[in-house]
Amino acid sequence: MNSFEGLKRLPEPTMRAFRASQHYDQLATFAIGRNHASWFLIHSKAYGMSLKRAELCLNYITSDPSTVGAVCPETGRPMFTVGGTMGEEVLETLLDLRDDKEKKAPITVVKRYEKGRKDGKLAEVRVEVPDSEIAYACARCGRWENEHQGVKFQRCSACKSRYYCIPLCQKEDWTVQYHKSDCALLRQGKAHEVEMRRKLHDNDWFHRSPLARDNKYLNPGQQNFFDKAMAREDWDLIGHGVYAPPRDVPDSAMKKFQFDQAPLGYDEVVQMKMLQGFAEREEVLAHKELTRRLRKYPVPRPPVS
Ligand SMILES: [Zn+2]
Ligand SMILES: [Zn+2]
Repeated sequence: MNSFEGLKRLPEPTMRAFRASQHYDQLATFAIGRNHASWFLIHSKAYGMSLKRAELCLNYITSDPSTVGAVCPETGRPMFTVGGTMGEEVLETLLDLRDDKEKKAPITVVKRYEKGRKDGKLAEVRVEVPDSEIAYACARCGRWENEHQGVKFQRCSACKSRYYCIPLCQKEDWTVQYHKSDCALLRQGKAHEVEMRRKLHDNDWFHRSPLARDNKYLNPGQQNFFDKAMAREDWDLIGHGVYAPPRDVPDSAMKKFQFDQAPLGYDEVVQMKMLQGFAEREEVLAHKELTRRLRKYPVPRPPVS
């Protein structure tokens, strides 16, 4: 089990947390996430989740190459297009978000299009969150950077635009079918072509969590997965569930996490913070809520040594 000794070395979380005043529970915190060509609003904590890590896909991709990988010519900040059937809702939500520190929205609207366009575009927005405070998903297995792990993933040093949770994921992804071909195109600035090649946009919807109490996605092997997570009190996995890998990457890409690499336990982080007297109210509440829900499940206690 993780010890408090190890937890004391936990670095401060780096992702910028936002709250929405109208659209979501006040205790729910969000971060801006990137996964391949997609931008997401992701839950930065287990509390308030509607049973999936990515709450909303933010960007809209069309056949126009400028809808992927655009950069603001004045500031060098990344930009993306908002539009499609969810466009209005996405834009409203983005403008409703404020970070705890500076009370700023994560984006600035650079251009608004007139309504009812054929191509579905609604606006071009500039991302104001510094790159170091954006959450990335592992390009191979779909796992998101986690606030409670305090860990930033390493990126591909060649294209600098794909991130990997562990070196094995990067190694496995380096094939012609996956990143080797993508990387060559990304280095030439052909991010849109990469998206057209693999069609991964909006690929983070399925979240498999025991909290869902829905065994539809749990085959016997995956049930085992959760039993083991329960046994290890792996709160990150219990709270945030299993991540969907890119559509064209087989589920087996996730198997290495199943039993051997439990991340820091959610409750242990909360306990440690409480001991140090700086637990945030919402974290304590989140812990209580998760405990309440999990009481419905048998949680084997590990032996105390
Ligand atoms: Zn990975
Ligand atoms: Zn690369």
